[in-house]
Amino acid sequence: MLDMAQIEALRAAPVADRDHLVDGRSFSPTSGQRLDVETPIDGSVLTTMARGDATDVEAAVSAARRAFADRRWRGLPAARRKAIMARWADLIEAELLELTVLGVRDNGTEIAMAIKAEAASAAATIRYYGEAIDKMSGEIAPTPDNRLGLVHREPVGVVGAIVPWNFPLMIGAWKLAPAIAAGNSVVLKPAETASLALLRLAELAHEAGLPDGVLNVVTGLGGEAGAALAASSDVDVLVFTGSGATGRKLLQASAESNLKRVYLELGGKSPNIVFADAPDLETAAEAAVNAVFRNSGQVCVAGSRLLVERSIHEEFIERLRSRADRMRVGDPLNPETQIGAVNSQSQLHANLKAVAQAQEDGARVIGGGQRLLESSGGYYMQPTIIADVALAHRLFQREVFGPVLAVTTFDGEAEAVALANAGPYGLASGVWTADLARAHRMVMAIKAGVVHVNTYGGTDITVPMGGQKQSGNGYDRSLHALDKFQNLKTAWIAID
Ligand code: ADP
Repeated sequence: MLDMAQIEALRAAPVADRDHLVDGRSFSPTSGQRLDVETPIDGSVLTTMARGDATDVEAAVSAARRAFADRRWRGLPAARRKAIMARWADLIEAELLELTVLGVRDNGTEIAMAIKAEAASAAATIRYYGEAIDKMSGEIAPTPDNRLGLVHREPVGVVGAIVPWNFPLMIGAWKLAPAIAAGNSVVLKPAETASLALLRLAELAHEAGLPDGVLNVVTGLGGEAGAALAASSDVDVLVFTGSGATGRKLLQASAESNLKRVYLELGGKSPNIVFADAPDLETAAEAAVNAVFRNSGQVCVAGSRLLVERSIHEEFIERLRSRADRMRVGDPLNPETQIGAVNSQSQLHANLKAVAQAQEDGARVIGGGQRLLESSGGYYMQPTIIADVALAHRLFQREVFGPVLAVTTFDGEAEAVALANAGPYGLASGVWTADLARAHRMVMAIKAGVVHVNTYGGTDITVPMGGQKQSGNGYDRSLHALDKFQNLKTAWIAID
């Protein structure tokens, strides 16, 4: 149960101006330049933060390199490293509400979702990878008798992590925790509209005993601080979650610098497919609206393309409409709110533009589509359902990253598969059917990192998450995520 009095006190708490965190210390931007941090709740300025540039990034990367080179972290006994990560998770949990409210003030996610998906998820992720530290080891290969092949798992060195604003703590932890658990040093560049909670998360790492320089945070604009990190020849691996356009720039930066490995998670336009034989259409409708409208649709795996079998199409849309109409949009710090604020004014405008464009193209807007609560100064938008979206339409093909659901009809399984696999993305998907054999066939046929069956969303650190096609490469979560941050090295030893 969330304590309203405590939330209100935290809402009103002043937020100190924030600098970068480099080598365990607060680090003022070399240029002296700062950025205003605006809250999407009412558009007011919460505080300021450092506007990092290439010089600041270089300082952070050098600190990370020194920490890696002198083995101050990877050289510690595994049990000690594990204990530090466990303590880090404990400290996050001890500050769960403070961190959550700070994050919500910065990025606008409704607290009912953020309380589980953000700080609590980050703590669980950090504990999970901390636990893995003393369970990872190399291999002895089955070589001929006269040769010994030892396969070492080595940390890669300095990891650059660039993360988005929709779930900064959850996604940040998916990158930081396995990178650090594998013995690397990290330079993190949070999104310009969601940096505050991650800065605090990094401070807590140091309070827990993480040595200086192992986790550095440089704040600022993507095109400046982010681009400098991507271009650094002293970064060995770059991990990223964000837009496809930025992902392409990161690959280019790698090609033009040191060919660092680049792992991308680039969102999607995920199909949620409802067959007429779904076990329970009420549950399917409830899940379908939650899959695309929570956090104002700012969810990489959002089920933003709903494919509905023709015989139940109109009935199902009616169920969606009545549910969407009842969803409570507003103050993200009110625990009753189901859809909080859109993260920024520019994102709100992009969402509204996508709807207006669809209308111009003759799409059938079933409900929503308008800005809400404008007088508050904040960025709120009605959940929006658009029916009869054709395969060729941009709403079918492109991510909106807002509370906009595109609905398309299909006839039979083959067409459902063809529509599901159309378009450039392959991140998530959903299938609603009571036919077990069909469910398995769909899992095999859909090109996506995850196929939800008779549910949508909800996740666990134990299973990997990654995209196919233009949704990216590499995996977050699970033990597989560690592979991104390790090199395999062979020792080939004569023993004859
Ligand atoms: P979105 O469009 O959803 O905001 P972005 O890809 O622009 O997604 O942002 C995700 C992250 O990438 C943010 O931390 C942002 O600052 C960063 N970023 C944006 N542009 C660049 C760039 N040119 N180089 C490196 N990082 C960038």
